[in-house]
Amino acid sequence: MDTTPVWKTNAQEIFFPSLANDITVDVAIVGGGITGITAAYLLSSAGKRVVVLESGKIANGSTGHSTGNLYAPVGNDGLHSLKSKWSEDVMRQVVTSRAEAVDFIEATINELNIECDFKRVPWCLFAEKSGNKSYVEAERKMAEKAGLTISNEVPLNLPVETGFSILNQAQFNPLQYTSSLAQKIQSDNCQVYDFTKVTNVKEGETCTVETNGGTVTASQVIMATHTPKGIYLVHTSMEPYREYAVAVILNSDYPPPGIFWNMLSTQHYSLRTYDTPDGRMLIVIGESHKVGTREWNNECFQKLEGFLRRKFDVASIEYKWSAQQYRSSDGLPHIGISTGNKKTYIATGFAADGLTYGTLAAMIISDQILERENKWSNTYKAGRLTPVASFTNFVKENVSVGFHLVKDHLTKKEAEQFDQVRSKEGKIMTVDGKKCAVHRDEEGNLHVVSAICTHLGCVVHWNWNEQSWDCPCHGSRFTVDGEVIEGPAIASLKKITITTESR
Ligand SMILES: Cc1cc2nc3c(=O)[nH]c(=O)nc-3n(C[C@H](O)[C@H](O)[C@H](O)COP(=O)(O)OP(=O)(O)OC[C@H]3O[C@@H](n4cnc5c(N)ncnc54)[C@H](O)[C@@H]3O)c2cc1C
Repeated sequence: MDTTPVWKTNAQEIFFPSLANDITVDVAIVGGGITGITAAYLLSSAGKRVVVLESGKIANGSTGHSTGNLYAPVGNDGLHSLKSKWSEDVMRQVVTSRAEAVDFIEATINELNIECDFKRVPWCLFAEKSGNKSYVEAERKMAEKAGLTISNEVPLNLPVETGFSILNQAQFNPLQYTSSLAQKIQSDNCQVYDFTKVTNVKEGETCTVETNGGTVTASQVIMATHTPKGIYLVHTSMEPYREYAVAVILNSDYPPPGIFWNMLSTQHYSLRTYDTPDGRMLIVIGESHKVGTREWNNECFQKLEGFLRRKFDVASIEYKWSAQQYRSSDGLPHIGISTGNKKTYIATGFAADGLTYGTLAAMIISDQILERENKWSNTYKAGRLTPVASFTNFVKENVSVGFHLVKDHLTKKEAEQFDQVRSKEGKIMTVDGKKCAVHRDEEGNLHVVSAICTHLGCVVHWNWNEQSWDCPCHGSRFTVDGEVIEGPAIASLKKITITTESR
């Protein structure tokens, strides 16, 4: 299935070289999404020699698969949950810091003349008759307390039961913004590399960053990889989720420019429009679930499509894609020096609000590296311990990881023989006493790899839509041949050779 996001239609493809020799810099940035590229911009502007090492193409990770909305409030459990987990003061700090990050993006676009369809629009939260009205009311109260300018209008042609708008939020093309920014900041002091995969990071007197193209020696490292690569304490307090997007052309009556969150009973669907050379598109995002817990995930796209067809006059379905997000158990991202490290910075736990949080993370971490004061450093401190704020989610998440570790190892076996694995399917089998992940492609070829995730040893699960092996424990994802797609794992799943007779 083609999972190209709509953003590619307007984004000119920008090519960066790959690292082919050893280099020395002040700061090595692993990951070229919005977090890594913004950090590279800030640090190189301040005179640091930086390198961005991107394993795929710049901005094509979660950044290029997001919705491109920029707003001061937060999704997931909302501002009212931050107030109850933390305090009203922390809730306000979140709103203020996020608003500053959105202003920073706008200023950068203006200063560097970046074409990325940025515009100021309202962010609207509403519930229809059957929706979650109490959530909307709780959020309205928090938005007022945080001093945001709100209106009771929701300019949308749907039957809104209750709702409000926060004015002066924003939208852009996230792929175009991030890749253009990377292109504009490239210089001798700011090297940007595509297809340069980091395979190991060692912290010592200096840091050594090994890649498939050369070794980088650096004074500091920023792990801007959405979730840090390797084994980090922070993984135990985050839940990985996948979420789905559908873009359609309507016959008529598009919603006006804006970010529209329709609060359903347990989740929200996010709606926005985007103008492409093929016409205006209406995009809906939603149906998130924990990574590796829904094999037949085509149903997620079907639900989004069904919603659009019920509410709007849909002419054609144009794009479908999905992406990953990491939710922290206490509701705040983890930004700064990682626990147990002295020179490695992390930026993670953004949930689905990370275009703004990623920008904010880059602002905080670059101030820390430049030894400048940053008023938000402490709020988002990476190594914080928050037993009360994170207790329920922390326990839930680690019980779930323990459950998958033990139960899947003991019982997960979905086929006895290779011929039970049909075209495009993936099944867990025991081969020569080893747990294997077996996939049959459309040409009938078998792909067999170890089913044990190389991060912390959980058994991977099949993802039908994306034809990948996904780990339910910490969100690592692998191709059918075992290559890492995303998540904390660094090493590939081991390839298993099978004899002709066993086929
Ligand atoms: C469906 C969906 C919609 C969303 N919509 C929004 C939205 O509208 N607004 C919002 O604020 N947030 C949104 N988000 C969240 C947002 O997309 C992310 O939080 C944000 O893009 C994270 O940026 P990042 O730079 O930290 O990570 P990424 O963009 O994922 O960048 C990390 C990069 O690291 C690279 N990498 C990984 N491993 C290695 C390695 N070993 N070596 C080198 N490079 C490596 C990856 O290839 C990747 O390019 C959404 C999320 C989802 C799931």
